Formats: sequence, C-alpha cells, structure tokens
Amino acid sequence: MPELPEIQAHAERLAAEFGGRTLARFTALSFTALKTFDPSPESAYGEALAGVGRRGKYLLVELDSVWFVVHLMQGGRLKPDEKQSKKPMGGLARWTFDDGSALLLTEAGKEKRAGVWVIPAGSDLDTTEPFVGLGPDADSLDLAGLRAILAEHSMRIHGLLRDQRILAGVGRRLANEICHRAELSPFANAKKLTDEESERLWTAMGECIAESLAYERGRADMSSSKERPGAVHHREGDPCPRCGDVVRAVEYNRYTVNYCAACQTGGKVLADNTTSKFLK
Ligand SMILES: [Zn+2]
Repeated sequence: MPELPEIQAHAERLAAEFGGRTLARFTALSFTALKTFDPSPESAYGEALAGVGRRGKYLLVELDSVWFVVHLMQGGRLKPDEKQSKKPMGGLARWTFDDGSALLLTEAGKEKRAGVWVIPAGSDLDTTEPFVGLGPDADSLDLAGLRAILAEHSMRIHGLLRDQRILAGVGRRLANEICHRAELSPFANAKKLTDEESERLWTAMGECIAESLAYERGRADMSSSKERPGAVHHREGDPCPRCGDVVRAVEYNRYTVNYCAACQTGGKVLADNTTSKFLK
C-alpha cells in the first residue's frame, strides 16, 4: 500500500500537472466509488483545480467549493487518463477537465475498497469523514508529540506505527524500516521505551520518511512496493545492510514483520505464539 511519502510525492506530481485546469465533469464508473452524496460533485463544475493535498494516506483534490478525498487503499491509482475509454479496466471514477484531459481512479484486484468522498472546501478534517479518528500525520510530530503518543499505548511499536488512528501515514513497509533504522525490536512495548530509545525512534521515523519522499519525488510516477528502496522490508534472507546478519521475518496473515536480530533484538529470534499464519 502506498504510504505517506508515496502519496505526498504523488499529490505534488498531480498538482504540478493538473493545477489550474477547469473541472468539466466527474463520473463515477463504479457504484461503490462515490462514498458521499452531499455536496454533489456537480457543484465544482467550472471551477479550477486549486491544488492537491494529503492527509495520512488520503489525497485531497481541491476545487474552489469542494474537495474530492481519494483513498487508494492497496491497489488504487489516480493517473492521467490518456485513453478515456468507456469502461477502463478497474475504473472507479474519472475527473474530466475542459481542455479534454482527465484523471482516472482505478483499483487493481478483486477487493474494491478505494473510493472518493466529496466534502466542502475548507472542512475541518478532524471532524469530517473519512478523517474522523485519524491520528496526527507521522511527519508532523515533534519528539515530545511522539513521546506523548508512546506513553499512552502499551503495545508493540510495530503495531503502533501502523495504526492510522494513532499515527497517520505509516504502513507495513515504513514500520519495518523505521524499527530497523532505530535499532529497536518491532515487538518493543511503546510505553516502556527509554527517552534514548524514543528519540532514536523519532529520528528514524523522520529519516525513513524523508528518504522515501526524496526517492518518490525523483520518479515520474508512483513506485510499486517492490521498487521502493529499504533495508529489511521484503528482504527476508538477505544480509542486513548495517551488520551483515540475515534479515528475518515473522509472518502474519496480512503483513510480514521483517527485522535484523543482531541490530534490533540483541540476537533474539522473534516468534509470535499468539498468531499463526496457518490459523489466522
Ligand atoms: Zn543488522
């Protein structure tokens, strides 16, 4: 799933290409695509695209009177639509501009979970769906802010980092990379981190996000998860780039925790007896 850096760089890319174009039409290509009915997309017809923003893993396509909120979920993409075919593969929604260009939201795979919300421009995102309950953006936190969050949660840091209600924008890949960068066990309890450890975690989070953002900004389009650079994510069996020990994995149904035992757990090999990929 694209995370904060991928979404942020993509927002900047779309704003640079489509900013200033006038919306002529919005078309829902799937009946599940549009999640709201008021305000109507039509109210923005004739308005210029003022910008493209981001909150957590959501894109905000900003017109004068409404914002289109787009969540790509796992396999969603929002791209320039050169063909503009009647029934594009995986097509969910299309924004057509008065110069004839268009943006197309597609979603690969069977699970149709990506979608579009239309909200009044300038809405307070803390009190507007789909943002209600979303934690602060991971790149917006200072050290004290992160420490306050850690102190409130007696849970594994890997799970905390990925929980969008606690911290927005970090997913499975960044959680693996941040724990490795911080030289902390992914299973370390957030509440029990020392001041030195929480500072390492905060520094690692900032560095991992900044490096991913720099990589994404250098691309013409959003990377696929396999292309994204990293030290441990999806690198089970490879040597750890820091120490040369083998990168290990704890498998779950929907994600994998990758880590280096030498760097992160004092050599202890992690196993999760509470969950098994065969049972869950
Ligand atoms: Zn290592």
